[in-house]
Parts: sequence; C-alpha cells; structure tokens
Amino acid sequence: MSPPTLFWFRRDLRVDDHPALRAAVVAAARDDGSVLPVFVLDPRLGSTSGANRLAFLYGALRSLRDDGVPLVIRLGDPVREISSLASETGAVAVHATADFGPYGRQRDAAVASALRAGGGHLVLTGSPYVIDPGTVRKGDGTPFKVFTPFKRVWEDEARHGAPGLRIDPHRVSWWRDVVSEEIPPTPDRASDRLPPATEAAAHQRLARFVETNLDAYDELRNNPGADATSRLSADLKYGLLHPRQILPSLRHAGPGPDVFRSELCWREFYADVLWHRPETARHALVTAMEDMRVDEGSLADERFDAWCLGRTGFPFIDAGMRQLTAEGWMHNRVRMAVASFLVKDLHLDWRRGAAWFMHHLVDGDLASNQHGWQWTAGTGTDASPYFRVFNPITQGKKFDPDGAYVRRYVPELASLADKVIHEPWLATSSTPSSLFDDGGAPTAASYPAPIVDHAAERVESLARYAAVRGR
Ligand code: FAD
Repeated sequence: MSPPTLFWFRRDLRVDDHPALRAAVVAAARDDGSVLPVFVLDPRLGSTSGANRLAFLYGALRSLRDDGVPLVIRLGDPVREISSLASETGAVAVHATADFGPYGRQRDAAVASALRAGGGHLVLTGSPYVIDPGTVRKGDGTPFKVFTPFKRVWEDEARHGAPGLRIDPHRVSWWRDVVSEEIPPTPDRASDRLPPATEAAAHQRLARFVETNLDAYDELRNNPGADATSRLSADLKYGLLHPRQILPSLRHAGPGPDVFRSELCWREFYADVLWHRPETARHALVTAMEDMRVDEGSLADERFDAWCLGRTGFPFIDAGMRQLTAEGWMHNRVRMAVASFLVKDLHLDWRRGAAWFMHHLVDGDLASNQHGWQWTAGTGTDASPYFRVFNPITQGKKFDPDGAYVRRYVPELASLADKVIHEPWLATSSTPSSLFDDGGAPTAASYPAPIVDHAAERVESLARYAAVRGR
C-alpha cells in the first residue's frame, strides 16, 4: 500500500472550490494512494482565540466530519505534529492552502524545513483570498499604501477568477488508519447566538443575503438596526466559503453589488498591507504615531472597563459593546464608532481595544482587526485622521435614527422616545411624558451618565495628534 498524501486543513474548512484539497486528491490518485486529512489544534492559536472563535472553529471541524471528511485531529506544535504524522505514516507530500499572516508564514517555513529534513515536502496551493497578498502592485512593482488604487487593480484581476469544482468527499479514497484526538466540546463561555458553522449554512447565508439585501446593500449597510449585511465574516475567516465563490453573485450592475465587492476588497487590502508590513500587527503603520500620548493609570483603566462593559453613557457605543459580548459580532458602522470612542474620546491605546475585539469576535482576523483599528485610530492606512473624530451621539442619530439598535442591546433605554434615545440625559423626570414611547416613567435610571464630555475630548484628541504629526 502506498503511503498517504497528507492534507493539512487550516483556514479552509470546506470541500467546495478548494484548489489545495483538489491538488492533494489528484496527487494521491496519481500514486494510487489515499488522502489523510488532518487539523492541528495549535495551542498558540488556541490561546489567542476567545471562546466564540473556538466554538465556531470546533463546529466547523465537526461539520467537515459530518460531510464525510474523516478528519484526524492532532494537538500540539504543528512543526512536531505534522512531521511526526508524516513519518508515522510514511507520507512524503503534505498539501495545504498557503497562509499569509505573520505567524502562519513562519510556521509554514518551519514545517517545510522539518519535512525536508525527513525527505518530504510541503506543497502550498491557493490562498484564503481572491488574489494572494503581496501580488497586487503598482506599475513600478511597489505595494499600494492606500485603498482606492489597490481596489482598481484588484477588481481588474479579480474579474478573471472563476469558482472551482466541488470535491465529493464520499468519492475520495481517505486514509483512516490513524489515531485522532477528540474535537473539543463547545467552550462554556461561548455565545449561544453564534451562526451555525457549516459549509451548507455559509452558502445559505450567502443565498439569503443575495436575495434580500444585496441590491440595497449600499444604502442599508450602515444601519445596524436593519441587520442587512451578509454576516459572512466568520465563514470567510475560517474558509467555509471562499470569496471567489461570492464574486459570481455580484456580476449584475448596481451600487449594491459594487459596494459589496469593495468591502471584500478591504479584507484583501488589509491582508496585503500586513503581508508587506508584518510588524503592523502590533505597531503603528505610520511609525510617527507610535509617539502619540495615550492615557494610562487607574482612571484610564476604569474608562476602559466602562467601554468593555457597555457602560459609557453613550447609547450607540454601549449597544455595540453589548452586542459584541452577547453575540461575538458587531456591526461594522458600530465597530468604527466604538473604536474611535476608545482612541479619541478616552485617549487609550488602540491595541487595548483591538485585543478586546480579538478576544470576543467570532470573525476575529488579525489583518482586518488590527488595520480596522489603525484606520480608525489614524495610525494606519487612512489618509485623513484629523477630520474623522466620530461623534458618538450624531453617529447614533444618523445611523440608528429610530433607535432600534440601541433598544435591542440597551434594554433599560427601550422605552425612551426616538428623539432622546441617543441622549437619555435629556429625558429627566421633569421631561414631558411625550418623550417616552409608553407615556410612562423611564426605566433608564440604572443607565450611567456619559463618562466623558465628547466636545472637550475631541479638542484634546486633535491636540495630541497635532503634537505628533506636526513634528
Ligand atoms: P459585510 O458588510 O456583509 O461585508 C462582507 C465581507 O466583506 C465581510 O464579511 C468581510 O469579510 C469584508 N469586509 C467588510 N468590511 C470590511 C472592512 N472594513 N475591513 C475588512 N473586511 C471587510 N472584519 C473581520 O472579518 N474580522 C475582524 O477582526 C474585524 N475587525 C474589525 C475591527 C474594526 C475596528 C473595524 C472598524 C472593522 C473590523 N472588521 C473586521 C471589518 C468589518 O467590521 C467586518 O468584516 C464586518 O462587520 C463583518 O460583517 P459582515 O460579514 O456582515 O460584513
């Protein structure tokens, strides 16, 4: 019996349109052999993922098994686990989808070198992106630093991609003769409102979004109360769906599909930026901004806690932070508002907020998260940070005009009338009863007063920026 070809699943937990899995199946068939599918639970990644992401990941692994892939689970350092699985089974070739993140690149180089030492090799095919990070370049070969020109080239190249074929797991010859660890149970602290982590559910989410909200996406995507975005971010993060599989649904003309394509491109742009500048996972892209003065100490810690708990006294901000802890997800418009609030109203280091997000988000992705934060903090790819200090009250009034979003996540404000829902301090006991929807007393007594004065903090924030940027 010939030794197996190893297939190492990572952020590509699907069987449809899977170039790397296909390469492994074809290579195994050529040698009349079988494919041994493995997933390594790397303690390092486990320690940086919160309960929500782990719950989604374990669900996706279980679903792969249910779909007919006899996945072998190993627990430990991937360099050791993959090379020992190869030597245990005599496998020479290990196939995988390329990883472009800072840790993944280093890990894969170490795995490739360990395999080489034993006479084997690592074959990397495809990527979690439509176009591999590091590939889209300016005419002179240098990387793009801003989004719009990147998008122009990306869209041109993306147009040529087409979805690949589905692999029927029941027709693949799998290697089954290996002991596997159990897939861990869903962590207790995970939200009970996470989306189902199956490839079929990801396709259903896409189909539902295309049918109901895609055409109006350009108008509705900024309204968190409407809940009209695709909710595909965790699927894309773990590769239950590849962005290449989404593009054909966006071919018809219209602002909805155009704007949605653009959002997919932001994901690829940030992965590209991180590929060129891996240190920006921890440090400012604009290096001068590392010197920006941030608040520390007990008052700063108290304010950070209020932000985390959704008790800042600004309803739009608090609704977002409570959505995050309740659901492991937050609407993009609110992510921008709460990030701006942490950096520009509370004067805290963007990395504190980014770490909180990474702990709770089911879609937590190093490139999108760190650069989403840096964009908002004015330390990253955004060209005009001075003019973009989000006002936490007007953001709410503009994007949640009827207060539906605030009412959903801040129930103690639910009975306030639309015109005061984003400024509950206006609804004092002397306020006419017409300010309350139910005409009765507010239930908002337990809701905190604003922890800062936005107008004053805005001035302070701009002064701190000017001090750094003016040097
Ligand atoms: P849709 O509006 O339906 O968009 C479709 C897809 O496009 C998303 O699933 C996502 O893959 C991509 N996308 C949309 N907007 C962005 C964007 N601004 N940047 C990068 N990709 C985008 N996204 C993550 O996937 N993981 C993160 O950890 C993450 N952290 C963020 C942190 C901050 C501070 C900010 C401002 C944004 C962050 N985003 C992150 C981007 C965005 O908020 C989410 O991708 C989006 O809210 C996911 O919901 P959706 O799938 O319904 O999005």
